[in-house]
Amino acid sequence: MSNDSNSGVADYPTLLSPLQVGSVTLPNRVLMGSMHVGLEDDLGPLKKMGAYFARRAKGGVGLLVTGGIAPNIDGQAKPFAGKLTNRLEAWRHKYVTGPVHDEGGLIAMQILHTGRYAYHPLAVAPTAIKSPISMFKPRKLSGRGVERTIRSFVRCGRLAKMAGYDGVEVMGSEGYLINEFLVEKTNKRADEWGGDYSQRMKLPVEIVRRMREEVGPDFVIIYRLSMLDLVKGGSSWEQIVALAKAIEAAGASIINTGIGWHEARVPTIATMVPRAAYTWVTARLKGEVGIPLVTSNRINMPQTAEEVLARGDADIISMARPLLADPDWVIKAQQGRTREINTCIACNQACLDHIFQNKRASCLVNPLACYETEVTIEPTTAKKKVAVIGAGPAGLAAATTAAERGHEVHLFDGSETIGGQFNMARRVPGKEEFDETLRYFGVKIEITGVQLHLNTRVSADDLIGKGWDEVIVATGVHPRRLNLPGIDHAKVLSYVDVLAGGAEVGKTVAIVGAGGIGFDVAEFLAHDADHPSSSLDVDAYLNEWGVDKTMSEPGGLKKAEMAPPARQITLCQRREGKLGAGLGKTTGWIHRQSLKKRGVRMVGGVKYLKVDDMGLHIEVRGEPEVLVVDNVVICAGQVPARDLLDPLRASGMSVHLIGGAEEASELDAKRAIDQGTRLAAAL
Ligand code: NAP
Ligand code: SF4
Repeated sequence: MSNDSNSGVADYPTLLSPLQVGSVTLPNRVLMGSMHVGLEDDLGPLKKMGAYFARRAKGGVGLLVTGGIAPNIDGQAKPFAGKLTNRLEAWRHKYVTGPVHDEGGLIAMQILHTGRYAYHPLAVAPTAIKSPISMFKPRKLSGRGVERTIRSFVRCGRLAKMAGYDGVEVMGSEGYLINEFLVEKTNKRADEWGGDYSQRMKLPVEIVRRMREEVGPDFVIIYRLSMLDLVKGGSSWEQIVALAKAIEAAGASIINTGIGWHEARVPTIATMVPRAAYTWVTARLKGEVGIPLVTSNRINMPQTAEEVLARGDADIISMARPLLADPDWVIKAQQGRTREINTCIACNQACLDHIFQNKRASCLVNPLACYETEVTIEPTTAKKKVAVIGAGPAGLAAATTAAERGHEVHLFDGSETIGGQFNMARRVPGKEEFDETLRYFGVKIEITGVQLHLNTRVSADDLIGKGWDEVIVATGVHPRRLNLPGIDHAKVLSYVDVLAGGAEVGKTVAIVGAGGIGFDVAEFLAHDADHPSSSLDVDAYLNEWGVDKTMSEPGGLKKAEMAPPARQITLCQRREGKLGAGLGKTTGWIHRQSLKKRGVRMVGGVKYLKVDDMGLHIEVRGEPEVLVVDNVVICAGQVPARDLLDPLRASGMSVHLIGGAEEASELDAKRAIDQGTRLAAAL
């Protein structure tokens, strides 16, 4: 899936061409879409947020948009979340706009009123109807409350201008307050703000109209319009067009695309969503309005962006996560260095999952994201000879970071390719993007001059006394071996046999262990050549998740159509309760739904008894049962592989232990890459 290019601008002529928006010239068609990263919520001067955006401005992004900032207290996402309601708060934002302008960038601030999605008791909504994803029932805004809300938006726009922003984005999508006013199912008001659509859409139109009056003609106003709600009873296409026209007439400079309310049960940005899966939605609006349109969702590489723009789906593309992953994305595209882009793999593990856990966002493939002032990669003043053992994510991050700093680095691995456990993840349907990270590290090894020794299993004796200043042990994990009668039966396979070894697997399978890998194996086995992954085919994906491209029903949903599964699968865990409870906050529900759709039986509270010719014998809450299966696949976690550690330490060498070799029970690529990078940054 990687792109390669030597010719930069010539390869991406549309993407890299400037665009005039009112009196502002955007240098290219890349907009960094709004994404909450947690830095907006600092209570002092927003220095970290400034450094984060300045880094992306330096990387050439055309227009940056901040994470959502509330226009008043009831619109805050959670207590103490970022808001802009007075001059003192505007002063804090100068620490964002100043550094961005110093880098020659342009930045707009998103104004977000979270409505009934607010995570606090002051939540308000057009009507007092609780959302299915929030624990707080909102209070109904009175007529005066609506007027006050409009004035808050306008004041927020004025303060944003005072803080030095080049524009604002009015957040009108994703099921937040404005979106709730638009749709009958959440707006049952009988006053002038409810009733027929012309009244329901008055709130956003008034906000934009009065804001334009307040901020003058040169300030950019982006309106993010929900073009596909993906909830029953959402907006119809005719209503969306009417709103877009009214928003243009009210004075917006740009319309951005919003896809799906947060409560929608369709994955819209996760890794199993095909690239550019939703640009057809924006394309439908082309020609209906005269102002530039921004399209969004799962555009992560320049080739995809160029194709979308060149076929006229939109005028600008929006990306957020890909610019967390690589702040130099635009510059690399311009300079013909596309193969050097650190691609966002849409895993959500370090960005959105962190936000939902109230932690600062970062990026699995770029742990420097949002830590610009805290972790820096500086050239070394004392060159060292460094051995890194193991070319999985931890070893790759450590080796390439150390070499980038100027150390002499040798990276050893017993296998014939780099990547370790990542090589298995990339084989799972829906995780094809993981390939990109291996491509990126491969290129980075080349550029930084890491000396790579594949097919080379090193022993402690090979290392001791050979002049290494530092040895980094990143030898990963071994699958846990279970003490279960029949574990050596021919039916039993490990996940490594299945995902890496190409083992033949029968039509009926029991999986022991329902962690990330158990789920991955189930997904892998539910597919075969006759049942290909929908993550590479937009129409197949839309059918599978019930998205109606004709948008004949309001909300754009239809009955899902699934290809039959390739196998009959039972997924087991010993724990009681929901399977996959430990999966990512923003993706676990997708994995569970995907397997349910494929008829995978999920059983908790299992006691494993034995494997024999019949299959896997279990007890479920005291009831014996035999899973009559062709194969039993063990996905029961891992143990650290660290045989080298003790002899190396005993020799007195400077030894560091990272990744799964250090802590197998929490083995994951996010921790591995973070640990490897931070260690090498400090060597
Ligand atoms: P895991 O998440 O720790 O799950 C191990 C599974 O094995 C659990 O279901 C556990 O559940 C079971 N188990 C543990 N000891 C057992 C024993 N002695 N006998 C029988 N069952 C046992 O490990 P993993 O699935 O190997 O994943 C490893 C790491 O990779 C995870 O930390 C995860 O972060 C990462 N990963 C993530 C994803 C993702 O989608 N985000 C995908 C793949 C991997 P019970 O004890 O209840 O049976
Ligand atoms: Fe992309 Fe994953 Fe990084 Fe988020 S954590 S920006 S989804 S690669």
